[in-house]
Amino acid sequence: MLINTAAYSTILAELATHQATLVAVSKTKPNEAIAELYALGQRDFGENYVQELVDKAAQLPKDIRWHFIGHLQSNKVKYIAPFVYLIHGVDSLKLLQEINKQAAKQQRVIDVLLQVHIAREETKFGLDADELHALTDSLAAQPLSQVRICGLMGMASFTEDQQKVAGEFSYLKMLFDKTRSVFASERLSVQPASFNTLSMGMSGDYQLAISLGATMVRIGSLLFGARTKP
Ligand SMILES: *Cc1c(COP(=O)(O)O)cnc(C)c1O
Repeated sequence: MLINTAAYSTILAELATHQATLVAVSKTKPNEAIAELYALGQRDFGENYVQELVDKAAQLPKDIRWHFIGHLQSNKVKYIAPFVYLIHGVDSLKLLQEINKQAAKQQRVIDVLLQVHIAREETKFGLDADELHALTDSLAAQPLSQVRICGLMGMASFTEDQQKVAGEFSYLKMLFDKTRSVFASERLSVQPASFNTLSMGMSGDYQLAISLGATMVRIGSLLFGARTKP
C-alpha cells in the first residue's frame, strides 16, 4: 500500500459529520498511489504544478475531479482549462480574466475560489481583505460569464500555535460570510447559492479548520506520506 488507508477512513468519518469535502493532495506522488485512493472511492484530487497535473489527468481515470491548488500563472491557464474541476488559488483580476477567456474557448464555465492571505507572519500568495473587496466590486461592475466564483481558500501560518491558526481560520470564515452576503445583495453573475465553498485546512490543521467552518479540506501527507519536495 502506498497510502494510509486508516487515516483515510478516519478523515472521511470526521468530515462527514461536518459535510465537508476531502481534496486528496497528490502533488509529487505517483499515479499508483492515486489509483489506490481512487479504488477506495476518492474522486477529488489536488495538484500544485500545471505540467504534473496535465500528465496525471491524461493517464488517470476521466471521472477524477482535479483541483488546482497551487499558484497559477496566467500563461498556463490554457493547459488546464479543458478539464480542471476547481481552481483554488485565484488572487487577481488579471488571472480571473484569463481563466474567463480560456473557459470561453473551451465553451465551459470554470469554478474558482479566491485565495485570501491569512497567515500573518509568512509571505504567501493571496488577497488581503481590501483587495478581496476591490475584486468583488469589480466583478459586480464587470461580470465574467465563464467563471463561477464558488468561495474562498486560505492557508494558515505553519506553526504549532493552535490559537494563532484558529484566529486565522476564523478570520477567513468571517470574510467568507461577508463576501457571500455582498454577492447576495448585488445583482451579479455570481449566484449567491454557488458561493458555498470554504477551502481551508491541511494535514496538520484540518480538524481545527472544519470546526471553524471549512467545507473543503486539502490533505496530502497524512494520506500519501511526507513529501521530499514542498
Ligand atoms: C501541499 C498543499 C496542501 C497539502 O499539505 P499537507 O500538509 O501535505 O496536507 C494543501 N494545500 C496546499 C495549497 C498545498 O500546497
